[in-house]
Amino acid sequence: MDTETPPNFRPGTDAFRWDGVAYQPYKQDGEAPFKDISRQTLFHDDALACELRYFEMDDKGYSTLERHEHAHAVMILRGSGQCMVGEEVRDVRQFDLVTIPAWTWHQFRATAGEAFGFLCMVNMTRDRPVLPSEDDLGRMRANPAVAAFLGS
Ligand code: MN
Repeated sequence: MDTETPPNFRPGTDAFRWDGVAYQPYKQDGEAPFKDISRQTLFHDDALACELRYFEMDDKGYSTLERHEHAHAVMILRGSGQCMVGEEVRDVRQFDLVTIPAWTWHQFRATAGEAFGFLCMVNMTRDRPVLPSEDDLGRMRANPAVAAFLGS
């Protein structure tokens, strides 16, 4: 018997958790470039070579500001907040779709005083994200909308 075969059906819950899916709170300390965000890997398949993850942050959380070669396909699933994709900062809400192209700076932030969650499809094998240098941050902050989004 293959105990690795996942079930074909996994009931969801109102709390945005799924039966049998591990809930991974991010480890974090003062140095972490993200805050109050959890991860659940909902689906992965070797032949498709992709994973579908669900990330959720609390009302003050944010994802890592990063860029990388692999792209992301994102659908907001819970609440509303803001995201930055390159030079663009947008308010986003449940069911909005966001595409993050290769090598584009991106970050998600809970800015509406509520939990904020999104599905993210990504390659199973992917390059390691790059974090911005002080110079990169300086260039990003030259855009007032981005500077406001990133805060102090
Ligand atoms: Mn990313």
